[in-house]
Amino acid sequence: MITIKNVNKSFGDHHVLTDVSLEVPKSNVIALIGPSGAGKSTLIRTINALEPVDNGEITVDGISIHDKKTDINVARTNIGFVFQSFNLFPFLTALENVTMAPIKVKGLSKEEAEKRGKELLTSLGLADKFDAYPNRLSGGQQQRVAIARALAMDPQVMLFDEPTSALDPEMVTEVLDAIRKLAKDGMTMVVVTHEMGFAKEICDEIVFMAEGKIVERAAPSKFFTNPDTQRAQDFLSKVL
Ligand code: ATP
Ligand code: MG
Repeated sequence: MITIKNVNKSFGDHHVLTDVSLEVPKSNVIALIGPSGAGKSTLIRTINALEPVDNGEITVDGISIHDKKTDINVARTNIGFVFQSFNLFPFLTALENVTMAPIKVKGLSKEEAEKRGKELLTSLGLADKFDAYPNRLSGGQQQRVAIARALAMDPQVMLFDEPTSALDPEMVTEVLDAIRKLAKDGMTMVVVTHEMGFAKEICDEIVFMAEGKIVERAAPSKFFTNPDTQRAQDFLSKVL
């Protein structure tokens, strides 16, 4: 579903991704973990071309993301992205945030988009917040609106970059529950997270990155109890 082949990426002289290759099969959930500066955000951002790559190939659903012939705006409709900082449009209500892209990009009628938008917001526990503006929502609620907004495009894959890092602890659970539900429904996902318990529970595979490389990939049960590399052991001794 997502394939990443020999991707390299530099910022000036700084080589941030070195020969990164990874496949995420359909309906799999991958946790991307590793120390700060490892390149996790950069990697996940290359998947929907928020960052260009120096070389290598990335395909999502068979579409080559960094190919000049690819219409990236079309390809992106297939890829939901949820950021640490919710990035909602402040002057639109929750429902308007969710319906804008389906109307503008997918050409849905306002009625169709609102029907689907209301379903999504309701499924995320926001049935009473359709008309609320972002500044009247808690961080956890805003992040769930951001998830609904991404899902409104009916993406084939969802990418999350530390979706709970900006939240107060009591709001983390509600957002993780939303992601857990998506996993259950078979959504293909890459989640950059520092929530190790969550990664262990819902992910099919842990991908551990350090210094721009994938150092280790393993099932959670193996990774968290008996990692192969010293680098992963050192990391886990600090975060667990
Ligand atoms: P964190 O856990 O802190 O979010 P990360 O693993 O997501 O870290 P990245 O944000 O991908 O790390 O950054 C990897 C490296 O690339 C870092 O050294 C960072 O300083 C550098 N970097 C990231 N974005 C840029 C940019 N736009 N320009 C220059 N350097 C960048
Ligand atoms: Mg990051």
